[in-house]
Amino acid sequence: MHEAASTSREKTIVIGAGQAGFSFCARLRELGYRGDITLFGDEPHAPYQRPPLSKAYLLGDMSVDRLLLRPTEFYHDQHIDLKTGIAVSAINPDSKTITLKNGAGVSYDRLVLATGSTPRKLPASLCDNLAGIYYMRSMADADGIAPEIAQGRRALVIGGGYIGLEAAAVAAKRGVNVTMIEAGERILQRVACSQTSDYFRDLHRSHGVDIREGVGLQGLQGSNGRVSSATLSDGTSLDIDFVIAGIGIVPNAELARDAGLDCENGIKVDAQCTTSDPAIMAIGDCACFPCNGALLRLESVGNAIDQGQAAAAIVMGSDQPYLAKPWFWSDQYDIKLQIAGLSSGFDTIRQRLGDAGSRSHWYFRGDRLLAVDAMNDPRAYMVAKRLIEAGKSPPVDVVSDISLDLKDLLKV
Ligand code: FAD
Repeated sequence: MHEAASTSREKTIVIGAGQAGFSFCARLRELGYRGDITLFGDEPHAPYQRPPLSKAYLLGDMSVDRLLLRPTEFYHDQHIDLKTGIAVSAINPDSKTITLKNGAGVSYDRLVLATGSTPRKLPASLCDNLAGIYYMRSMADADGIAPEIAQGRRALVIGGGYIGLEAAAVAAKRGVNVTMIEAGERILQRVACSQTSDYFRDLHRSHGVDIREGVGLQGLQGSNGRVSSATLSDGTSLDIDFVIAGIGIVPNAELARDAGLDCENGIKVDAQCTTSDPAIMAIGDCACFPCNGALLRLESVGNAIDQGQAAAAIVMGSDQPYLAKPWFWSDQYDIKLQIAGLSSGFDTIRQRLGDAGSRSHWYFRGDRLLAVDAMNDPRAYMVAKRLIEAGKSPPVDVVSDISLDLKDLLKV
């Protein structure tokens, strides 16, 4: 439990100037916190949104200014001391200080870890330090990829998750010849039902993307230090100009681990967003929190915002535990996918057709509605979100019945 009152001399430090760190600081001020807030970020920018990096920003349809969550004056006005381009290299819980990369020490009363995550890298043995191999996490990453995306070039996208699919969609839209390999049986296998995988496979193939499932990478070869071909696990080889790897992320928990905090699939926190050290909280992609008797770590904007805000309320004395209300979206070509809930553990899928080719896939375990994937169907998404958040489930077989209006599902 944290003290409700804050004094003007209390020092709160946040490590990680991303979505969760921003959400925490902004809400803390909104709730009337009068202590000092310092927000450290190792990137050169004020906090910005990452989703457009693999969508509108990569397409060249969005400016840097529009990526920023707030203009820089916001931090000045809110007395949030934003320190960009400064990495924190250690936490010293005994002295309640952090050490910056330049060796300086800074003391805190409360520390919040919002360090996000890092893309998983291809094994060095497969890629041999070649140029032309990209990952997708930061504005710098997107700026590196953008010049590669041009008519007639050949891309290999490794990994059929959301990041890989979105990057493939942008590249295909700009006339790149895209081959995607997915080592699993099907794209989106980790996160979606086979019907959703089928939908997005068909969508990408209709835009010319060559999707190869059950196929891994055996190696990348180069000429003059740059990637030029790939050998695949099925024995085929491809001539390519560049590679985008979207093979998952690893939570940034090293600082916490080195400081002796409990970590397990990220930084372990309780329902109050507090780590094994009562003066240190963790939020966003890096935090693993209790949910329905298990530990859960979410990689989404929705979670970063909600958990940041919940942590701020807890600092200000709220005794409400953080309850995740998962939601997510992805844009590919002219399709907006919206997801409400968490589908893991489902045993039944029902499809509901909407207008003009829109549709939704409803995930049930027994008769309990767990999640919905809605493709260009914002109404299905909204109804499902309301049902899931209220813990209500329409009867499984009613969902597909399009003679019933969607809002009738709220009543059954
Ligand atoms: P981040 O936003 O990653 O912020 C963490 C920050 O901490 C980073 O700036 C990092 O550099 C900094 N940091 C780390 N260590 C240190 C240190 N030691 N010292 C100082 N600073 C440090 N989610 C969705 O819901 N929908 C989407 O469509 C979607 N699309 C995405 C597309 C892309 C390309 C990416 C990369 C992510 C996408 N996500 C999407 C996920 C979403 O952006 C993340 O879940 C969200 O940004 C997590 O917020 P965070 O604050 O935990 O981490």
